[in-house]
Order: sequence, then C-alpha cells, then structure tokens
Amino acid sequence: MKKTGFFRTISAVLLTASLFAVVFSSVGCSKKESRVVPVLMMHDMNDSGDTWSISEDGFRRIVGLLDKNGFTPVSVDDLVSFVERNGTLPEKPVVLTFDDGYYSNYELLFPIVKELGIPVSVFVKGATIRVEGEDTPANKLLKMSFEEIKELNSSPFVSVYSHTYALHGPNTSYGPDERDSALPLEGESEASYKEIFARDCERAEECLSRAGIKEFTAFSYPDGKSCEWAEDVLSERGYKVSFTTDYSRDNVLTQGDLSSLRMLGRMNVNDDTTEEQLLRYLDRYNP
Ligand SMILES: [Zn+2]
Repeated sequence: MKKTGFFRTISAVLLTASLFAVVFSSVGCSKKESRVVPVLMMHDMNDSGDTWSISEDGFRRIVGLLDKNGFTPVSVDDLVSFVERNGTLPEKPVVLTFDDGYYSNYELLFPIVKELGIPVSVFVKGATIRVEGEDTPANKLLKMSFEEIKELNSSPFVSVYSHTYALHGPNTSYGPDERDSALPLEGESEASYKEIFARDCERAEECLSRAGIKEFTAFSYPDGKSCEWAEDVLSERGYKVSFTTDYSRDNVLTQGDLSSLRMLGRMNVNDDTTEEQLLRYLDRYNP
C-alpha cells in the first residue's frame, strides 16, 4: 500500500475518534462498518471552460470547497484497504479522479497535488499513450508519454490505472462494427465479448507495465458505460475497483463486501460547477 500524505495525517487524527466510536459500539458483535464515498471526475486541465476540462484555479477551488466542508481526499488503495479491513477511512472521504491521460495531468495537475499533498487517481487509455519520437495519430492527442506516466505513478500522491487500451470511441470495435465504448455489440455472444474485453485489458496492462506499473487495481469505464460481462473479466483479472459516471449512484462501501467496490458512480466537475451543485452531490454523503 502506498499513497500517504498530509491529508492522511489529518485523517488519522479524525479517524481516531470515529474508530473508538465504532469499536465501542460493536463490542461483543462483529459489526460491519460502512462508508459512503463520493467520487469526483475530471479530464483535461486547461482554461477552455468546456464541460470536460477544469482549469488549475478551478481545481484548487474544488479542493478548497472539499476542505471547507470537511471532506478528505483519499486514494483508491485507501478504499480497498477499508473494505478488506486493512485500513480505515476518514469520516468524510472523497476520491479525485482524472480520465484519459492528458498531458496536462503531468504538466499542470502533478505540481498542484504535490504542493497540496492530496491523492489523485489517473486513468489512461493505453492506445493513446504518447511515444517520444514517433509521429503517430496518438501523439497528436496531447496525452502523456510512458515516461511521464511512470514519473506520475512513482509519486506518493498519484496512482495510474486503466481506462482500456482501445475500447474508447471512436474505432473501438476490434471488428467491422462500431462498438459503443466498452459495451458488447448487439447480438454479440458472452464468450466473444469476454475474449475481446480480456484481450483489451491485457494490452492495457502491457502499456501500464511499460510505464512501470505493477498493480492493476482499478478500472474506469469509457463514458461510464459498464456491463456485467466486463465486470466478470475485471474480477477474474484481479481488478478490485471499477468506476462509472453514474452521478445518481450512492457509493456505499462495506467492510468485507468486495462487491461494494464495483461500478462506483462519479460526478463530473469543471469550472462551471458551483458550490451549491457540489454540495448537492456531497450532501448525500454526509454522515
Ligand atoms: Zn474517457
């Protein structure tokens, strides 16, 4: 387990109180503790003001609002440790995620999280990782290189995970028909889908390995489009956590229940996200 930092130190203090409460309330019985965990989703970091981007100031503002309202950023590993009873969570945890592997995550986000000492999780698409010195279409997408991903993941504040190799439109079919993100094609058999999805996972894992990543703990579904067949494959391959973009989903994590780490919902946040909108989402999670 890695990912420690300033916020975790604060968490430890906060946790002491909640832990005592749990221990004392469960003397004589094996009470399962649950936590509800909001997850925020971001992508590129820039000043464009579009739906799927957030500026540096916008990100700092969101982090400030979380802090102001008592929420503590935690890592994916923290979620797993809690459910596996190897660790605890603060009273009001929140997970910060970034999808697609944009270069801005390295150039702009990385210095901020190091400065603030907060954990973030980054999900990269293997097929568009930039290869230095190559003039490929992937290189024009302003994504991170293998070296940059490696540096990012070696920090105690950033964990990098899979966002598929290429099951992320367009051209996601691995065949003649256009696939809707990582979903099965119409009429596709379970066996055929699982074979293709597993092959894509394998290629994504090869890419992450090339960036020095050894543990494939988490996965985020392109466009948040999840399915049970994919879940079966992820589970077989040892993935413990998966993320969708289902804003309405309540992420209730229960100790001892590994299925509670599956298909967690997320809220997209950007420069237009108001404090009121953020709190409307977070308030569902207030204990
Ligand atoms: Zn994506």
